[in-house]
Amino acid sequence: MTAEKYILSMDQGTTSSRAILFNERAEICFVAQKEFEQIFPSPGWVEHDPIEILATQLQVVNEVISHVNPENITGIGIANQRETTVVWNKETGKPIYNAIVWQDKRTTSICNDLKQNGYEKLFKEKTGLVLDAYFSATKLNWILNNVEGAVELAADEKLLFGTIDTWLIWNLTQGEVHATDYSNASRTLLYNIHELCWDAHLLELLNVPQNMLPEVRDSSADYGHYMYNGIRIPIGGVAGDQQAALFGQHCFSAGMVKNTYGTGCFMLMNTGDNAIVSKAGLITTIAWGINGTVSYALEGSVFISGAAIQWLRDGLSFFENVSDSESLALKSIDSEEVYFVPAFTGLGAPYWDMDARGAIFGLTRDSGKSQITKAALESIAFQTKDLISAMELDTNKKFSALAVDGGACANNFLMQFQADILGSSIQRAAVIESTALGVAYLAGLQVGVWTFTELKNKKINSQVFKPSMDDEKRERLYKGWLKAVSRTMNWKE
Ligand code: ADP
Repeated sequence: MTAEKYILSMDQGTTSSRAILFNERAEICFVAQKEFEQIFPSPGWVEHDPIEILATQLQVVNEVISHVNPENITGIGIANQRETTVVWNKETGKPIYNAIVWQDKRTTSICNDLKQNGYEKLFKEKTGLVLDAYFSATKLNWILNNVEGAVELAADEKLLFGTIDTWLIWNLTQGEVHATDYSNASRTLLYNIHELCWDAHLLELLNVPQNMLPEVRDSSADYGHYMYNGIRIPIGGVAGDQQAALFGQHCFSAGMVKNTYGTGCFMLMNTGDNAIVSKAGLITTIAWGINGTVSYALEGSVFISGAAIQWLRDGLSFFENVSDSESLALKSIDSEEVYFVPAFTGLGAPYWDMDARGAIFGLTRDSGKSQITKAALESIAFQTKDLISAMELDTNKKFSALAVDGGACANNFLMQFQADILGSSIQRAAVIESTALGVAYLAGLQVGVWTFTELKNKKINSQVFKPSMDDEKRERLYKGWLKAVSRTMNWKE
């Protein structure tokens, strides 16, 4: 009998580093996870220690490897929190500042200055993104301008820039490989997603020297190897977490959509070789590069989805476990007057209204925990429908099915209501670790574990939810939602 072979996925997230070993049937065999410190130096600032990120990632990697013979690990895939920015000295290997996390807002004023100087359109045309502090470019600019000696070190070509994938790869390969993949490069606000190159004009606007930037490779490619106790394990798959999840959800062809229900919602639609510029409040991004061909995606994110259920639990003490929201909502299945708009931190795609604030509408004397909980779960589905509507507008096509994952997709009430309000099927993934699975797939393609055709046959849905609501009711409910949203907008103005 031949020994079982494995692919190792690293899932370096915002709050924890995880490692998962998949076998060649793409089944999860071993998982390890370690949280790390969130650093908040001032209001709106969020940092991570890159050394701790690396240490926790290596710790969980070594833990899962210890369960098997390392010679049977054929490849490594890396998925990462996107946009988070690290700058390090290539001679000492030390970061010159903490990693500035995607959530960090300190560079909003740099973005505003660029907007005032009329550059918003230029950035959007070249990068597909909105000019926002969320993306890496202004974070990199901030580090160069605010860390003592950084400009001189950069001029001496001693500094390297990377998103978290690049930082990990550089360290795993002992400084041999300084590279990123197309999906991560497309989140920096410096990468021209049409010409597939670092954009000289954008680099100049942000004073970023070209020599700091990583080489951009396919998402399924040779990224060197990690040496584990004298055994070389090739790194073959790299992608930003949401794009990795799109791949892990088998959304391989244009038109396929996945939605992840976590704290917020992240929806991506594969648009194939078409980089669609959104007119409906979405961003354009690179999904992945394989065999020298790049696939694009439209992306929309909602700030608060599962977090609204956490708020009911922690803020209002409605229940002990978020999973209790399902049975509570079912108690008022027939009432439909209450709408909950969870715009706690403004509204993301497709509204982009930072001044909106949360509200509950339609309360009557008999409204209670159950109606409010139901309305909160429904708000997750309504926000998802908002994103789907935006994608339909941008692509001029009706979509037909949605692949779902993330913590809150365990809620059957939510999934059924989602299918009902969309009027189309929802496919819940059997392996809800879509992110780790996605980079395992990419690595396995590179090292020859499976072919693309074999991958296509691997998808297992644990459950399909079919719509059962009539059109009249669907339209009436959605109209109510849109009315509720409109009343929360510009609240702070
Ligand atoms: P993240 O990766 O953003 O931390 P997860 O994918 O772990 O998120 O999902 C956690 C979120 O999903 C939390 O906001 C939680 O409230 C919500 N959630 C988890 N399980 C359920 C459930 N059964 N019903 C409703 N919401 C849930």
